[in-house]
Amino acid sequence: MTNAITEPGRETPVLLETEVLVVGSGPAGLTAAIASARTGARTVLLERYGCFGGVLTQVGVESFAWYRHEGTVDCEGIGREYERRAKALGFTRPEPQSRSEVIDTEGFKYVADRMIVEAGVTPLLHSLVVDVIKEGDALRGVIVEGKSGRRAVLARRIVDCTGDADVVHKAGAPYTKREKKDLMGVTVMFTCAGIDVARFNRFVETELKPTYADWGKNWDVITDEKEDDMFSPYMEEVFTRAHADGIIPGNAQSIAGTWSSFTDAGEALQLNMVYAFGFDSTNVRDITRAEIEGRQQAIWAIDALRHYVPGFENARLRTFGMTLGTRESRLIQGKVRVSKEHVLNQGRCADSIGIFPEFIDGSGYLILPTTGRYYQIPYGCQLPQRVENLIVAGRCISADVIAHTTMRNMMCCAVTGQGAGTAAALAAKADVGFDALDIASLQATLTAQGVRID
Ligand SMILES: Cc1cc2nc3c(=O)[nH]c(=O)nc-3n(C[C@H](O)[C@H](O)[C@H](O)COP(=O)(O)OP(=O)(O)OC[C@H]3O[C@@H](n4cnc5c(N)ncnc54)[C@H](O)[C@@H]3O)c2cc1C
Repeated sequence: MTNAITEPGRETPVLLETEVLVVGSGPAGLTAAIASARTGARTVLLERYGCFGGVLTQVGVESFAWYRHEGTVDCEGIGREYERRAKALGFTRPEPQSRSEVIDTEGFKYVADRMIVEAGVTPLLHSLVVDVIKEGDALRGVIVEGKSGRRAVLARRIVDCTGDADVVHKAGAPYTKREKKDLMGVTVMFTCAGIDVARFNRFVETELKPTYADWGKNWDVITDEKEDDMFSPYMEEVFTRAHADGIIPGNAQSIAGTWSSFTDAGEALQLNMVYAFGFDSTNVRDITRAEIEGRQQAIWAIDALRHYVPGFENARLRTFGMTLGTRESRLIQGKVRVSKEHVLNQGRCADSIGIFPEFIDGSGYLILPTTGRYYQIPYGCQLPQRVENLIVAGRCISADVIAHTTMRNMMCCAVTGQGAGTAAALAAKADVGFDALDIASLQATLTAQGVRID
C-alpha cells in the first residue's frame, strides 16, 4: 500500500473575515459565539453538522443540569438562559433525579438558532475545520471544507470549542490524551417508543427502588456517602440477568445505565445504557467501529428491557443519536491546569471567569453538590501554550482527569464558553493578546452580563 501522497499546492478562496471566530457549537461554542457578539465583536460560528448544540442536539443528551439540588449554589450566565428559553417555548420536561428540567434535544436546535440570530452571530453550518493558517506563532484563521469546497476563514481571535481541541492540535499547541484503554467510555444514545410509563413508574417505585449506590458495573464509584441513598434512574441488574440468560451476548457485558424523561406519547428519551471502552474519538477507524458496535449494543439493550422491565414489554427503537457521544479525548496543556484538589477544596483564583458547583461524575467519582460548595474557574486553564490569538472552552480545557469530569458537564462548558467568547471579543477590540488582557475588565464585562464569578 502507498503510505502517503503529495497534494499539489493551491490557492484557497477566503470565505469570511471576522473579529472573532468560534469553531464548534456545543454548549461551549454556542455560548462563546453569543457572548462574543453581545460584547460587540463581529463573530462567526463554524459547525461541522447541520444544527447547533453539540452533544445536546447531535448525541441526544438532555440532562442539562441534573446536578442541581436544594442546596446547590449554581453558576449564572448564558447556560441558565438556555434553560429559561427552552422552558418558555415548551421544550422542557421534569428531570427525575434533581431540581431541574431536561431540555428537549430537538427543540433546542430551534432555541439555538433563535439565540444566534438575535445575537447577530454569522453562522456557518456543514463546515468542518480541517487545518489552520499561522504566521509564526500567531493563528490567523482556519481552513474549512464543505459543499462549497475548501475555503479560508480569517479572524483576529479564534475560540476552539470542538470538544476534541482540533484547532489546538492543528496549530501545534501542546495537549495530552490518555491511552485508549484509559479514556472514558463512548456511547451511542437511543430512544424508544411504545412505553407504558405509568406501569414502568410503578415498577421503579415498588420494586427497583434505584439509588446511586447501585452504580458500579462499569466503574468503581467513590461518593461522599451522602449520595448513596439518593434516588438515581439507573438500571443494571436486568442487563446482568439478560446476559446470564443469553439475551445479551458474552462480549457486551458493559450494558447498563440511566433513563431520563418520557414524552406524553410514551417515548423514553436519553437512554444512556451503552458504555463502550477502548475507543479514541480522534481516530476515524475507532469511531466507525464504535458507532456500529454501539448500535448493536443498543438493540440488545432494548431486547433485554422488553424481556424484564414492566412497562417496556412493547418497547421499540425510535432513534439513535445522530452521532457517537464522546466524553474524553484531547485536553490542552494550558497556562494553568485545574486539579482534583482545586475542585474538591472549593478552589479560588484571582483570574476567575465563573463558578461551578462541586459536581463530579466519572473516572471513579460521583459527588453531588447538595451542600452549596463550589469552585472558581481560572481564565488560565483556557489559554493554550505556544500559540497566539487562540483560546479554548468546553470539555478540552486544561484539567487533570478528575477536574475534567466536572468541567466537561454542559453547564460548566457554557461557563467556560462565556468566559472565552467575552475574552476573545475584548482582545480583538483592544488588539491585545490573550496574555495581556486586563482580567479586571474581563471580569467586569462578565459580571455585567450576569455571570457569577465569585
Ligand atoms: C453519552 C454522554 C452523556 C453525557 N451526559 C451528560 C449529562 O447528562 N449532563 C451533562 O451536563 N453532560 C453530559 N455529558 C457531557 C457533555 O455532554 C459534554 O462534555 C459537553 O457537551 C461538551 O461540550 P463542548 O461544547 O465542549 O463539546 P461538544 O458538545 O462535543 O460540541 C463540540 C461541537 O464542535 C463541533 N465540531 C467538532 N469538531 C469540529 C471541527 N473540526 N469543525 C467544525 N466543528 C467541529 C461538533 O460537531 C460539536 O457541535 C455527556 C456526554 C456524553 C458523550
